[in-house]
Amino acid sequence: MNDSIFTQNIENWYVNNKRDLPWRHNPKPYLVWLAEIVFQQTQIKQGMGHYKRLVEAFPTVEKLADASEDDVLKLWEGLGYYARARNLHKAAKLIQSNDAFPKTGKEWESLPGIGPYTAAAIASVCANEPIACVDGNVMRVLSRTHAISDDIRAGTTQALMRKIANEKIQFAEHPGNFNQGMMELGAIICTPKKPNCNACPVQHQCALYNNQLDPSLYPFKSKAKPRIKRHLHFAFASNEPFVLLRRNPEKGIWAGLYLLPFNEGKESAFKKTGSLVKKGKHLLSHQEIHYYIWDIKTWKLLPDDHTDYKHAPLDKPLPALPVPLKKFVDAFVNL
Ligand code: SF4
Repeated sequence: MNDSIFTQNIENWYVNNKRDLPWRHNPKPYLVWLAEIVFQQTQIKQGMGHYKRLVEAFPTVEKLADASEDDVLKLWEGLGYYARARNLHKAAKLIQSNDAFPKTGKEWESLPGIGPYTAAAIASVCANEPIACVDGNVMRVLSRTHAISDDIRAGTTQALMRKIANEKIQFAEHPGNFNQGMMELGAIICTPKKPNCNACPVQHQCALYNNQLDPSLYPFKSKAKPRIKRHLHFAFASNEPFVLLRRNPEKGIWAGLYLLPFNEGKESAFKKTGSLVKKGKHLLSHQEIHYYIWDIKTWKLLPDDHTDYKHAPLDKPLPALPVPLKKFVDAFVNL
């Protein structure tokens, strides 16, 4: 395959077909970085409202750095993977204290929450650095154009994909356009099911297309490990004008967020004093959370020690809560 033609086709196609996204009008490091973090594990249409609200509340990195962590988490509420928000805030403080944004990919990687992929995306778009971003979309495109049938969960396959992409980006006139073009192609043309090969700019460089192979078989992905099941029992007191919350530790799921007091296990500590008012299942990437909400009527019946708790009045905005708890408390308040 001629890498130079492949790269040129991707760049040209991107320039003429890119989606109209806010940070593309004016690709300043702050806006590109914010977009990369918000959309790391979130689809564009799901995260766009959050992105816009974050830019409106914190139009500059200084405003973000000066905000409280609770305010940043509140604006992040509903996006999940809250470590992203906490790292974003920490990184903003570091950028503020350095009085400058990083320039190279290596410099970006030194900030919290920024790995090689995000660093490559920002440095290629904002500083034209020729380092390839390889995400799921890009791997799908490369597995098809090169007919790579190895398991894309394997580190060796991912290293091969990075090598191929990095070879191609060296021919790019604007490396940021090549990276965004590859991701965009995977997102809107070379989709997992029914790719639109007739509209593909690299159709003639595609091994699958040229050999009439079935795209639905590429890439090959081995089965994921089953999610770990957890049972969490939360306490709520419907007779009180406030909700009792406790900040979760800084590690693990819902790190640093406020939660209703809870115990974990198949048996609930609230069974004797409360009644079950809600139960459900919430899926995280590696965990399957079975949650149960118990109405204990009054917090006096709470069996645990009460240190480290926060009383949050129900008639005022609450701190950021995980999705199932927020839905429950919002429904209660609006009854
Ligand atoms: S020709 Fe089809 S399968 Fe090949 S890269 Fe393009 S969209 Fe994907």
